Amino acid sequence: MKSLKQSLLAIFSGVFIGKGLVSTARAQLLVYASIIASVVSSAGSSSAQSASAEPTLWGIYGVHNRHDCPVNNRETAKEVIEISMTDLQPLMKKYGITSIEDMYHSGLEHTLVWVVKTARPHDLEEFTIELGVARWNDLKFVPERTFADVITDITALHGLEDFKPVIESVPFSAKSGLAGSNSAETTLWGIYGAHNRHDCPVNNRETAKEVIETSMTDLQPLMNKYGITSIEDMYHSGLEHTLVWVVKTTRPHDLEEFTIELGVARWNDLKFVPERTFADVITDVRALHGLEDWEPEAVTKK
Ligand SMILES: [Zn+2]
Ligand SMILES: [Zn+2]
Repeated sequence: MKSLKQSLLAIFSGVFIGKGLVSTARAQLLVYASIIASVVSSAGSSSAQSASAEPTLWGIYGVHNRHDCPVNNRETAKEVIEISMTDLQPLMKKYGITSIEDMYHSGLEHTLVWVVKTARPHDLEEFTIELGVARWNDLKFVPERTFADVITDITALHGLEDFKPVIESVPFSAKSGLAGSNSAETTLWGIYGAHNRHDCPVNNRETAKEVIETSMTDLQPLMNKYGITSIEDMYHSGLEHTLVWVVKTTRPHDLEEFTIELGVARWNDLKFVPERTFADVITDVRALHGLEDWEPEAVTKK
């Protein structure tokens, strides 16, 4: 029986097996899950394997006391500088993380938003502990979908495959567009939305139509009108019913009008939070703590 298990394990979950990466209990669970999947699935072993190993998108939300923040705390500053200089690939591989999509910090709210793709979300806990970020943050892990994923889902859910919105071209204000491009420097802002599940496009057909329409509209004129130079990220959590969008804008005050005209303010409570990337934070904290030339000992360098 043991050898049968092992050969099944090799067939179905070979991707997971490495130097002691998988505990015996977990390996057995994988075997049983794979057997069930292979029995249920008419496509057989290949679909069973891809079902168990497919990476999914997860938000890592952190919140910390301002005194523990690398901006104010020299020891935390050294820790994050060390992370910035370390090759994270081995640690990511160890915990099944296939990519780190985003790493933002708000020095106003002292919150982190990281987005990763992982094949083993349960191990995010151990990943954040070993990385050290769990030492100075309360963390939660939230399944996320991109805006594009949401559109695919809600189109199917509401049977809107043939829905064709009448898209009016947004009146382009050349005056405000010019002001936007010529005035201030662009800065990075997080747009945080929270909505009632009954207003969510997943559950609400009218909201679904609105966001499908948004997905089919050229947003460039509206972005120009309000000084937005790029939309970096658009995530939705169907568990918490929260949105995290990240934009670059020259006129953050106008984010209010942008979200109203876009319609997203109709079904979300919104807040706008200045964000910095992980790279920006490293530059800042090196300067703040006079650590410009500081090098940690014994890091596996990038
Ligand atoms: Zn902070
Ligand atoms: Zn929602």
